Amino acid sequence: MWDKLLAEDHAHVWHPYAAASDPGVIVPVTSASGVRLQLADGRELIDGMASWWCAIHGYNHPVINRAVSKQLEKMSHVMFGGITHPPAVKLAKMLTDLTPASLNRVFFSDSGSVAVEVALKMAIQYWHASGRPEKQKMVALRSGYHGDTFGAMSVCDPVTGMHHLFGDVLPKQFFVAAPDAAFDAECPESELHEIGDLLTEHHNDIAAVIVEPVVQGAGGMHFYSPDYLRKLRALCDAFDVLLIFDEIATGFGRTGKLFALEHAQVEPDILCLGKSLTGGYMTLAATLCNSRIAEGISDGEAGAFMHGPTFMGNPLACATAIASIKLLLSQPWQRTVERIGSELAAGLAPARELDQVAQVRSLGAIGVIELNSPVDLRQVTPMFVERGVWVRPFGKLIYAMPPYVMNSEDVATLTAAMVDVVAQL
Ligand code: PMP
Repeated sequence: MWDKLLAEDHAHVWHPYAAASDPGVIVPVTSASGVRLQLADGRELIDGMASWWCAIHGYNHPVINRAVSKQLEKMSHVMFGGITHPPAVKLAKMLTDLTPASLNRVFFSDSGSVAVEVALKMAIQYWHASGRPEKQKMVALRSGYHGDTFGAMSVCDPVTGMHHLFGDVLPKQFFVAAPDAAFDAECPESELHEIGDLLTEHHNDIAAVIVEPVVQGAGGMHFYSPDYLRKLRALCDAFDVLLIFDEIATGFGRTGKLFALEHAQVEPDILCLGKSLTGGYMTLAATLCNSRIAEGISDGEAGAFMHGPTFMGNPLACATAIASIKLLLSQPWQRTVERIGSELAAGLAPARELDQVAQVRSLGAIGVIELNSPVDLRQVTPMFVERGVWVRPFGKLIYAMPPYVMNSEDVATLTAAMVDVVAQL
């Protein structure tokens, strides 16, 4: 039966970041519960990826399951044009209460990439409405990643990123080096010279700077000093440029704070959330903004903000997000993230002794082994599966960001498998 499933998958399904005809090793998963993925052949894998950052409570959580069922009986979907409903209103209120006070308006969408598109459009429309339509360019950091749609691709690292093929048709943005200063260090002023010079010369054309605060995810799992964000905010203010934080990966506790911006105590003008917003249950994202943006756009010539995805504010997804956030906040999640973080750090430390390893680092509930050369997924995926764990490296990075419900024993199995696989390479 599973052979047939895999054959049909091979014939008809196109997997992410893969050739249609040759997707590499594909693992059939039939169900998932807690931190375990159940495979078609009866084996189980401890999930080190939380489904790309999002399944913070693990899978099949009874509390979220109940919330989904309850909402399903009321209304799974209804258009948002001209209509509202309690899950969207309650979630918007919750998000504005949890994020910095200035962020008081929420625009819902259905994926992280679209939340970024919305943020870029908001920034451009804000300046248009303010009588400065020439301010349309974005500044982004090298080794940043913001999604796979056109606007989002345009602010991903243009060289090391995954989108260089589309370079000619993407909007041309400005890029500056990501800060080098470590997470626990101050950021020297010199690290802002490049962006300072850029803003000095081009601020009349620049709408916004977009960054992933503190952790650059898919572009390199790079951790940097929160102090950079404070200095960046001051620069943006000095040059009248908006600041967008993309917390699609870092939001909801992953870095040890509910939002990574709390490490710096900096308020962006626009904030993008997604992934673990629903505990990984549903596809939902949100772009929050302050009243400067919301009122600026609304008072402008166009007035309306021209965006409206069909599944905007999906009630099922909003109810799930409310349940997920309540569940997170009802627990000592900060201690849990700290525990997982120190276990990841301790468990991965032996990899430092290996010649093939360039660096081992961790922050919050994220653990990373950076190798000297890229790994071959065809080689390492079966090695992880044999060891009973699910880890999906990219490039030179073998990393884990487990669900917060992972116990110490499972973290130890996960990290031991990661070190062991690296040792075999
Ligand atoms: N921004 C960041 C920081 C991300 O990590 C991602 C997804 N990896 C995105 C945006 C895009 O989100 P999505 O995949 O939901 O479109």
